[in-house]
Amino acid sequence: MFQGRPDGVIKPMPEPSVLYLPLRSRRFLFGELHVKDGQHVQGGDVLARDVNNYAVPLLAPRTGRVRLKEKENHIILEDVTKLEEHADIAKEELSHIEQEMGAAGIKRYRLLTLGAWQFFYDAHTGALPDPLGTPQAIIVSTVSLEPFVARGDVQLHNRLSNFTRGLEQLQSLLEYQPIYLVMPDIKSEFANLIRNHIRGYAWVKMLEIPLTYPYDSFAILARKLGLRRNKGPVWAVRTEGVLAIDRALTLSKPCLVRVISVGGVGVNAPTHIKVMPGYPIKAIKDKYVFEPAARIINGGILTGELLSTETLGLDTECRGVTILPELKEREFLGFARPGWSRSCFAACYLSALRKKFRERLTTGIRGEGRPCLSCNFCEEVCPAGITPHLIHKYLYRDLLEEAEQARTDLCVECGLCSFVCPCKIDLRGQLIDAKKLIEQEKEEIRREKLRQEELAKKAAEEKSE
Ligand code: SF4
Ligand code: SF4
Repeated sequence: MFQGRPDGVIKPMPEPSVLYLPLRSRRFLFGELHVKDGQHVQGGDVLARDVNNYAVPLLAPRTGRVRLKEKENHIILEDVTKLEEHADIAKEELSHIEQEMGAAGIKRYRLLTLGAWQFFYDAHTGALPDPLGTPQAIIVSTVSLEPFVARGDVQLHNRLSNFTRGLEQLQSLLEYQPIYLVMPDIKSEFANLIRNHIRGYAWVKMLEIPLTYPYDSFAILARKLGLRRNKGPVWAVRTEGVLAIDRALTLSKPCLVRVISVGGVGVNAPTHIKVMPGYPIKAIKDKYVFEPAARIINGGILTGELLSTETLGLDTECRGVTILPELKEREFLGFARPGWSRSCFAACYLSALRKKFRERLTTGIRGEGRPCLSCNFCEEVCPAGITPHLIHKYLYRDLLEEAEQARTDLCVECGLCSFVCPCKIDLRGQLIDAKKLIEQEKEEIRREKLRQEELAKKAAEEKSE
């Protein structure tokens, strides 16, 4: 229980006159520019694409004039106005796709070009799935359990019909594969409302999960449902993704706004806001942040990333902004405080004697970083059943093979290990880096093996000639 939880209201933000669109987000790097400096664009025009991610587009959220050189790694839109946005789709491309792949191919192409595909995840890896692939199942989650990120029930507010229409559109992309709809407490009023809307959809299977972080993780859900990675990809999408599908396929409109959260102890009145990518972070700070020194996190407290001062606007994947008071100086005799109002996994503070209470979370909990104490807390909380402290020690000694054998690949990147660690070790960050390194090494071995096989084949052919 933390102070600063966003309430269930969606508050409007003033229309901006300038948008700062970062070219990089968690999964995307929009490296291929499609506009020139000074060009006038309309809402929905393609500004850039990520060529390494199925060419997903960065769309102009509003009409405006492009500035490319004023801020590194950003596209700036000046003189922004809100006019009717349009769908930037090449007609000749559509007829080509229809001939090649039929109606389902067109739908997938529309999802990609209208910005809805960016809401899809590969449940096992978290990456953007192949829009032309065939999933073994789709997981749709209305639950966001990480503290301070936007909640599915708030995003769904007054848009239940759009959501069910989005589900129908999603189903039309499939042949017979099931859609699992993940809900908290399937007996709740909210669940009943959804159940009434999807009555008769035999292809939707409802799945209840405990309201405990991180059981909303797509990787955990896929494991729980027995959807193995070697049986094909599992697509996963959250509430806002289903709403984006509806917008793209029912209305043929681009997905240009998002409902995100603004939470944390450093916020005046934690809430949800409706904004577009590129929305100035300064405008959010000016309106909501009262702490002079605040750490701004893109996302929740467990998996979010620190927003650098260089980043001026919200990126296309932002689900919430968390603001925590930054403690720059050490607490005087902090170690000697009884901890009546701060909790710890070790239950070593006096607060262990209290009933549940709302903790004021700052960046200064549990002091500075230290070497591992081997307390085992990280292992106890890990939902993947691995041993983060052991992997941390292997990685410290560059023993990548041992780290692989300790099943680093099972990590679902939930961040609980880093959160409970009394030594403030960034276990999650280390495991994510290790997973990437292991994948790279495997890829190199696979390529080398292919190269050797080709050489052997060539040599055999030359010999027979
Ligand atoms: S190792 Fe850490 S980040 Fe990975 S699943 Fe376990 S607790 Fe979560
Ligand atoms: S929680 Fe931190 S200190 Fe404790 S065993 Fe894990 S890495 Fe070591």
